[in-house]
Amino acid sequence: MNALAATNRNFKHAAKLLGLDSKLEKSLLIPFREIKVECTIPKDDGTLASYVGFRVQHDNARGPMKGGIRYHPEVDPDEVNALAQLMTWKTAVANIPYGGAKGGIGCTPGELSVSELERLTRVFTQKIHDLIGIHTDVPAPDMGTNPQTMAWILDEYSKFHGYSPAVVTGKPVDLGGSLGRDAATGRGVLFATEALLAEYGKSISGQRFVIQGFGNVGSWAAQLISEAGGKVIAISDVTGAVKNSNGLDISKLLKHSKENRGIKGFDGGDSLDPNSLLTEDCDVLIPAALGGVINRENANDIRAKFIIEAANHPTDPEADEILAKKGVLILPDILANSGGVTVSYFEWVQNIQGFMWDENKVNSELKTYMTRGFKDVKEMCKTHNCDLRMGAFSLGVNRVARATVLRGWEA
Ligand code: GLU
Repeated sequence: MNALAATNRNFKHAAKLLGLDSKLEKSLLIPFREIKVECTIPKDDGTLASYVGFRVQHDNARGPMKGGIRYHPEVDPDEVNALAQLMTWKTAVANIPYGGAKGGIGCTPGELSVSELERLTRVFTQKIHDLIGIHTDVPAPDMGTNPQTMAWILDEYSKFHGYSPAVVTGKPVDLGGSLGRDAATGRGVLFATEALLAEYGKSISGQRFVIQGFGNVGSWAAQLISEAGGKVIAISDVTGAVKNSNGLDISKLLKHSKENRGIKGFDGGDSLDPNSLLTEDCDVLIPAALGGVINRENANDIRAKFIIEAANHPTDPEADEILAKKGVLILPDILANSGGVTVSYFEWVQNIQGFMWDENKVNSELKTYMTRGFKDVKEMCKTHNCDLRMGAFSLGVNRVARATVLRGWEA
């Protein structure tokens, strides 16, 4: 099922649980604004290359729209729309004063040089600079982008509007980025996992984890989980997969991955077919890469007891149904990976205040937000007698619906 169809289906299910008026439902679903721009750059060899860039601003009832910019070959309008909508519900679940947006450029960043990436980012920013802003839409990193990308956006935006560090988050710390932002999504995954396991009288230590993805989110989650005593027994990235039933040495794996641009060839475990990683025997499975990876093809073979969605939209609704019948508990993306955008909010607040927090304050505030988000979702599950995904969706949708009604429609 395509990402947008899946996200719409979850939204409609939540709207039904909440008994939303059908006109309000329709207005919440339609994006506020969809932007599609052509980005042509000279390549290093002098030839021209054209790319298509997108920014979908889904909803701003609760505040400025917020969400990452993704550089990936699979970026297309439907995917960006789905991810923008998910950001609206995610910021509402986290209870931070934002709406939702997402952007992306269809490209393969690994095939572009640093100067080509810089030119592409600057051209994209020139095309969208008058539609983003501190109080309208605040981009951040996502798959294929990083603090350097945000620094280029900030610089290009500032040429038109004056120096405005709060226009993007996930910046380098030297340019007003927040301490703890780099690790935030992974750390949020740790806090959310702790909260879920505690419900079942379990803790991180003693559990066996399998993680798909060793980028920013997967590598931080692996590191923090192993520091908390969890046994990370298998990990994959685009180059391959590795397994060690006694637990992988994550620091060594990180070093290997930095030196070799991937985990392939790591000698601290046995290499594994990346396609079988999701169905490895483990207690907790953490998809931290692409969307749609858990679907009706493999859902029946999943052996984990818990799935923590560190990626956006890793599980198809069809897989949701199969896994529910098997008794697998899923902590949904809009709660599990909300640590990234939550610390983005802290970064924006620090920029606006002109005051920098120390890392302990960032991490302890993050824990408060993640724990409260989990508690609020559980409350919705009780009220509507539903699973965690519907608990999170109905919490997010309800908060946005209330804000929309309060603001009214008078033209
Ligand atoms: N790209 C991240 C996400 O999907 C972070 C977004 C942000 O910080 O605005 O949640």
